[in-house]
Amino acid sequence: MNYFEFEKALFIKSEQIRELQLELDETNRGILILTLELEQIEEEKLREGMETVQQLQKELEVTNQGLLALTVELDQAKEKYRNILEHANEAIITFNEKLEIESFNPVSLALFGYSEPELLGMSLEKLVPGFKKIKQEQSNNVIAQSTPLVFGCRKNGLFFPVEITIGEPFYNENKTWMAIIHDISERKKTEQGLRLMSRIFEDSHDAIIVTDMHSNIIDVNLSFTAITGFSKEEVIGKNPRIMKSNLHPSSFYSAMWDALKESGRWSGEIWDKRKDGEVYPKWLSMSAVKNDFGEVSHFVGIFSDITSRKKAENRLTQLAHYDSLTGLPNRTLFMEKLNWSIDLANREQRQVVLFFLDLDRFKIVNDTMGHQVGDQLLVNVANRLRHCVRKVDIVSRLAGDEFTIVITNIDHIEDIAIVAQKVLDAFNTPISLSGHDFFVTTSIGITTYPDDGLDIDKLLKNADTAMYHAKSMGKNNYQFYSEAMNQKVHDEMELENNLRKALENEEFFLHYQPQIEVSSNKIVGAEVLVRWKHPKLGFISPAKFIPYAERSDLILPIGYWVLETACEQYVKWQQQGIPPFILSVNYSGVQLKKPGQVELVASILAKTGMNPENLKLELTESVVMEDAENIINTLHKFKKMGISFSIDDFGTGYSSLSYLKRFPIDTLKIDKSFVDDIATDADDEAISSTIIAMAHNLRLSVVAEGVETKEQLNILQAKGCDQVQGYYFCHPLHHDEFKDFMLASPEHRHHEG
Ligand code: C2E
Ligand code: CA
Ligand code: CA
Repeated sequence: MNYFEFEKALFIKSEQIRELQLELDETNRGILILTLELEQIEEEKLREGMETVQQLQKELEVTNQGLLALTVELDQAKEKYRNILEHANEAIITFNEKLEIESFNPVSLALFGYSEPELLGMSLEKLVPGFKKIKQEQSNNVIAQSTPLVFGCRKNGLFFPVEITIGEPFYNENKTWMAIIHDISERKKTEQGLRLMSRIFEDSHDAIIVTDMHSNIIDVNLSFTAITGFSKEEVIGKNPRIMKSNLHPSSFYSAMWDALKESGRWSGEIWDKRKDGEVYPKWLSMSAVKNDFGEVSHFVGIFSDITSRKKAENRLTQLAHYDSLTGLPNRTLFMEKLNWSIDLANREQRQVVLFFLDLDRFKIVNDTMGHQVGDQLLVNVANRLRHCVRKVDIVSRLAGDEFTIVITNIDHIEDIAIVAQKVLDAFNTPISLSGHDFFVTTSIGITTYPDDGLDIDKLLKNADTAMYHAKSMGKNNYQFYSEAMNQKVHDEMELENNLRKALENEEFFLHYQPQIEVSSNKIVGAEVLVRWKHPKLGFISPAKFIPYAERSDLILPIGYWVLETACEQYVKWQQQGIPPFILSVNYSGVQLKKPGQVELVASILAKTGMNPENLKLELTESVVMEDAENIINTLHKFKKMGISFSIDDFGTGYSSLSYLKRFPIDTLKIDKSFVDDIATDADDEAISSTIIAMAHNLRLSVVAEGVETKEQLNILQAKGCDQVQGYYFCHPLHHDEFKDFMLASPEHRHHEG
C-alpha cells in the first residue's frame, strides 16, 4: 500500500465515523423528542412510548459499539501512519495552495537541516527551487513525479539531487497536497560511477578484456580490437588462448596462473599474436575479481602494445652499446662482452683470445681523401671483419681505426693463427670507394687469457703492445704478446708444412713392438708404431705430430699408409714362416668417424691378403665417448669382417667399464702412467687391480703397456694381467729386427731384462 492508498483508506474510515456520528446524533434527537412528547401523553400511552424509547436506546447502543470499533481501528491506522511517516526514508511534507508547509515527517528535518519551527509554514519553493513549476507541469496528473533532475537545497545552501512525488490528498476540502522528496545523491553517484566506468572501459588506450572464471571472454573494449585485430563478436565466448604466440614455454603460463591464484594479480611482458598472425610484445596486467563469497568470478586483463616502447628501448641500447658508424659493438659493450667471455672461460677451463687490430696507414687515407671516404672505408673494414670470424666471435670498434676481436672456444694455438691469417687475408682484395681502389692492411696484436694476463686492462695493454710489435715487423702481420707463443706458432706451422710433404717424400716408416702373453711368455701380438724422420729436423715423435695430423686430416692418408704397409709386412712375415700373431694398429678417432672407412679397410685387407682375424685396431677412450651410437654401428661393421678392437690408454678418460660394455671391444690397454708407478703408488696399484678384475668380468683381455721393470711385471702377473708390452721385453723394432726377434728361440726371448 503506498502513501496515497493509505491516505485514501484513512479518509474512508474517517467518513464512516462521521456518518455513524450523524446517525448517533439522529437517534439521540429522537430520544429527546420522545421524552418531551412523553410528558404530554396519557399514561396508557406512556407504556407504548417507553417501548419505543427502549427500542431507540437499543439502536443507540449498537451504533455506539460500531463507533467504538471504528475509533479503535482509526487509532491503529493513525499509529501505523505515524510509524510510516517517522521511519520513511523520504521527506514527506504536506503543503497548502500557497506552497506553505503544513506538516512533515522527521526525515524532512534531517534532510534539509531545518528545525521544526523553521520548517512549519516555510515555502516549499525554498526547499526545492522551482517546485511551483514542477507542480504546475504535473498538475493534470493526480500523482506527479519529477522526471528531469531536480535539486533540493539544504539550510546550509548545498544542493542535492532529489526525486519528488506530488500527490493530492483525498480527505481535505481545503486544498492540501503532499510531496514525497527522495534524496537520490547516492544513486546519482553510482550512476555517474557506472557511466564513468564504461567511458573508461571504452575510451581506454589500453585494451581491456574481461573473462568469466572459466576464461571465456565476456567483454572487450575498442582498444582491444585496435591492438589485436579481433572484433568483439569474434572473441566473445572464446578463450584468450586464441592470441597465444607459442613463444613462451608452458611453464611461463603456469607461473602466471599460480601468481593469479595466490595474489589475485599478475603483470608482465608477454608476446602474443594478432589476428593477422603478427607476434608483438605487450604489457599485461591481470587481476582476478572475486564475488561476495570470496570466489573468483571474473578475470580482467588490461594490456598495451609495447612494440614501439621496445623499439625505443632497443634503439637506446643500440646507441649506448654500438658504434653508430659501423654498427659494431662499441668500447662499452666490448668490455662487457670480454668480461663475460672471461667468466665463461673460467667456468669451462678454456682460454679467451683477444685480437687488437689497427689499420695500417689509415691516417693517410683520412687526410688525403677526407673523412667521408675514411668513414666509408671503416664501414667496409667492419663488414669484412664481421665476415671472416665465426658468429660467436665478437668484433668491436674501439675508436678510430682500432678494432678488437674476442675469440672463445679455441682449443689449439694454431687455430688462433688460422683466424689471424684469415683476418689478414680478408684484406687481400682492395676496397673500392668513389672510383678508387684502397688496399687496406691491418696489424694484429694477439694476447690470451689466462696465460698472458688475468684482467681486462692487462689484456688490452698486452694486445696493444703486440700490435705495435706487428707494426714494427713491417705491418700487415700478426704477433702474439709472448715470444714463446710466437715461437710455438711458428714451429707448429712449420711442422704442419713438413708433415704435408712427409708422405710424398717417404719420410715415414714403421716400428713393431711385441706383446707378450704373461702366462706363456710367448709373443702373441705386436703394436705398429709410426716413425717420422725429417731430413733436417731428424726424428719427430708420433706423440708430437699425430695430433697435428689429426687436426689437419692428414691422419687419413698417413693412417691409410700405416695400415697398408703393416698389412703388407705381416703377410710377408707369414710367407717367411713367422707364426700368426695379432697385429695391433693404432686407429685414430678422425679415421673412425670419416664415412667410408670400413670399405677402405676392407680394400686394404683384400689388396694385401691380410687375414682380418689377425688385425686389431687400437682406439682411444676419448673417441668412443663421443657420438656413441654411430661409433657402435661402425665397430659392428668391422667386427663382422673379423677385426677386433682394443681400448688404448685406458684409465685416462672418464668412461666407466659399464659404459664401454655397449661397445664390441675385446681388449683393454692399461695406460702406461698407471704401470709406471704400480710398484710404488698404492692408488695406481689399486686402479690396475680394479681394471684387470672388471675387464675379466666383462670377458675382455688386458694388456699393460710401458712395462719397464721386472717388479712391474711381477705385480701385473700377480693381478692376472694377460699381456704386457714394454721396454722390459722389447723396444719397438724395425721390421728386420722384428723378424729376427720372432724367429729367435723362445729361450732367447726369455731374458732377464
Ligand atoms: P701408444 O699407442 O700408447 O703407443 C705406445 C707408446 O709407448 C709408443 O710411443 C711406444 O714407443 C711407447 N712405449 C712402448 N713401451 C714403452 C716402455 O716400456 N716405456 C716407455 N717410456 N715407452 C714405451 P710412440 O711410438 O712414441 O707413440 C706415441 C703415440 O703415438 C702412441 O701411443 C699412439 O697414440 C700414437 N701413434 C703411434 N703410431 C701411430 C699410428 O700409426 N697411428 C696413430 N693413429 N697413432 C700412432
Ligand atoms: Ca697404441
Ligand atoms: Ca697407449
